[in-house]
Amino acid sequence: MPVEPAEQPVLDAVAAGFPAAVGVLGRLVRIPSVAFPGFPDEPLTSSADAVAQLLQDTGAFDLVDVRRAEYATEGGTALGSPAIVARRSAAPGRPTVLLYAHHDVQPAGRPELWDTPPFEPTLVGERLHGRGASDDKAGVVTHVAAVTAAFEALGDALEVGIAIFVEGEEEAGSRSFDAFLAANHDLLDADVIVVADSDNVSTTVPALTSSLRGNVTAVLEIATLDHASHSGMFGGAAPDAVLAAVRLLDSLWDADGAVAVAGLTTARPPAGSPAGPSIAQLVADAALLPGVRPIGRGTIADRLWYGPSITVTGIDVTDVLNASNTLLPSVRVRISCRVAPGQGAEEAFAALERHLREHLPFGAHLGITDVDLGDPFLVDQSGWAAAAARAALADGWGAEPELTGIGGSIPFISTLTERFPAAEILITGVEDPDTRAHSPNESQDLGVLRKAITAEALLLARLSRRAG
Ligand SMILES: [Zn+2]
Repeated sequence: MPVEPAEQPVLDAVAAGFPAAVGVLGRLVRIPSVAFPGFPDEPLTSSADAVAQLLQDTGAFDLVDVRRAEYATEGGTALGSPAIVARRSAAPGRPTVLLYAHHDVQPAGRPELWDTPPFEPTLVGERLHGRGASDDKAGVVTHVAAVTAAFEALGDALEVGIAIFVEGEEEAGSRSFDAFLAANHDLLDADVIVVADSDNVSTTVPALTSSLRGNVTAVLEIATLDHASHSGMFGGAAPDAVLAAVRLLDSLWDADGAVAVAGLTTARPPAGSPAGPSIAQLVADAALLPGVRPIGRGTIADRLWYGPSITVTGIDVTDVLNASNTLLPSVRVRISCRVAPGQGAEEAFAALERHLREHLPFGAHLGITDVDLGDPFLVDQSGWAAAAARAALADGWGAEPELTGIGGSIPFISTLTERFPAAEILITGVEDPDTRAHSPNESQDLGVLRKAITAEALLLARLSRRAG
């Protein structure tokens, strides 16, 4: 649907409010709101309060509040990170849309890897650099700026109901997510859920995410000896834990680097699925060194979106500086397995555990702890809200959106669909291939931010005219 003359005030309000939106993004980036265990709670509280104030300032909401949910742990209960909720009631007969983003961020990691200070918003060309500048404080700003513009332009004619849920612990595993939804169900209930926490094809082509892989992460402890011993005395006859771990890990992939675990399934891409990136694009986006070849088989979409993957993300072993001539008795390995759409995370973990136990060399002992599971997800693109979102993206960006899968996981998506089974879920975002979310030198392209706000403001305006 082309932008109608009646929608021009919405576009004007987005344009007028954009410099302020960029300023708000900078202010939020300055708050190091990391929800990982061991990080202070205070920045999360000030970040939540700042987001609540922004929503209050829109003047559009009947209620804005910062809330925490109690959730069950192994030893009892704990309190989740502060989340922001808000609600504007729908006019009779109009739908309600729930806008989701998260205000917590990944830790900055090693500061020397950053070109600019991680919590100091810094404009470099068209990109605002800083931890959380994109993931997902730009998602928060998109919702705030879109509501602001739509309400300024339409006033009481903004008839769509709007619920807001800005989570405070997405990067830390959304521990209290389900408890929070249960405790705030009626406040957050909606016909459509817009999740602003995903990627775009490029800075000029928007995407609607149509599939997400699930994940299984675990820590493996591989042990062969009761204690360390001299490698000269026993090496060659007594198996050390590093040898056993290397052999065990090697069994997880075949010669092409494709996953070789029986029982981990691959999905058949649904009809009309996106083609995915080319090999050249993968090489560029993932920054493969000269001469390094991609792993796996099939199209890049088959490998990234519809197939499983296994990655070793950490190993606890003696470091080189402290290496002495000993046989190491045990090694700890953290592995991260991405699960193809169509397979439950629990079933995938069972297949992985079976494989590991069957391939343990030399009778080594294996302990598996810290298991974390998230289910994959295929988004239904056939509903009215998906059509409305595609049209709004096309008009907001001036380019037709592409359906894309993402290789990453957003485990809370399946929780959302369980709690709100009738709602249509739309996964949008403000990232692009240069965003470097979770990595040093994360940044947000401001052109993308502006287009994302425009598209969402148009969607809110159009839903205000739609029968719910
Ligand atoms: Zn995120």
